[in-house]
Amino acid sequence: MNLTSVKIIKDLLARHGFSFSKSLGQNFLINPAICPKIVSGGRHLTDIAPCGFEIGAGIGVLTKELAKTCKKVICVEIDRTLKPILDETLADCPNVEIVWGDVLKLDLQRLFAEKFDADAEIICCANLPYYITSPVIMRLLEERLPLKSITVMVQKEAAVRLCAPPGTRNCGAVSAAVRYYSEPKKLFDVSRGSFMPAPNVDSAVIRLDIYAEKRADVEDETLFFRIVRAAFSQRRKQLVNPVSAELKLSKETVKAALIACGLNPAARAEELTLEDFIGVFKELKP
Ligand code: SAM
Repeated sequence: MNLTSVKIIKDLLARHGFSFSKSLGQNFLINPAICPKIVSGGRHLTDIAPCGFEIGAGIGVLTKELAKTCKKVICVEIDRTLKPILDETLADCPNVEIVWGDVLKLDLQRLFAEKFDADAEIICCANLPYYITSPVIMRLLEERLPLKSITVMVQKEAAVRLCAPPGTRNCGAVSAAVRYYSEPKKLFDVSRGSFMPAPNVDSAVIRLDIYAEKRADVEDETLFFRIVRAAFSQRRKQLVNPVSAELKLSKETVKAALIACGLNPAARAEELTLEDFIGVFKELKP
């Protein structure tokens, strides 16, 4: 079944009485060129057939593409009204399992342990529901799931933010976290006409290549990210104020830490590179 044909999709959805949920970010891919590019982009680091992890199956267009090259595909989908549709569209994909639930609430550590072999090379590919782009990416990274890479469609503006190197204007707390855990890369743009229904914004596919090793110099990641988040909470202002408030330290202590790192004591968060933040963390940790 051609899941990028508008006629076939309309017929499928009508037969099952399905209606799109805007609040669940349901914009299904109808451009046939995109799914193969997401999957080939996602598996660039793996020579052997990887396992796939997807968020949001929709009617299964990307799921089917993953099933072609992956040994096994686990896909989390929140909307149970898609079940009869996916039963039909994925009937010829025995290596796919849909897990019904909210990706932000499921115990992903347990899910991965249950569904994938310990030595599996796992890639995450998804056309993300845009309302949860940052929380999903943060969750996948912070939980240190055994993923090689995360290749996701996001809003074009989000792609710029997520891939922005710390120390540049578009960077925020999430971009700093992305750089901490992975090497991000924008792969390609996708026009709004590639979706049904068409969203009001254009999109882009980015890939995060996850570092295998934990950074040895950040012993307390919770404290490190408290500093980063506080600094970016007032991104256009001096970071001394929010960071000292968050850590219940005097402004002088935070200023002294910045100076010790060779930084301007009046610096704003967007001026600091990841290494600068790590330096400040080292100065401020108890
Ligand atoms: N992969 C399909 C495609 O490319 O056509 C669908 C992508 S659509 C942008 C996002 C999908 O994520 C929808 O199927 C939606 O129901 C699902 N979704 C939304 N919120 C979710 C959540 N919290 N957990 C799991 N899936 C979710």
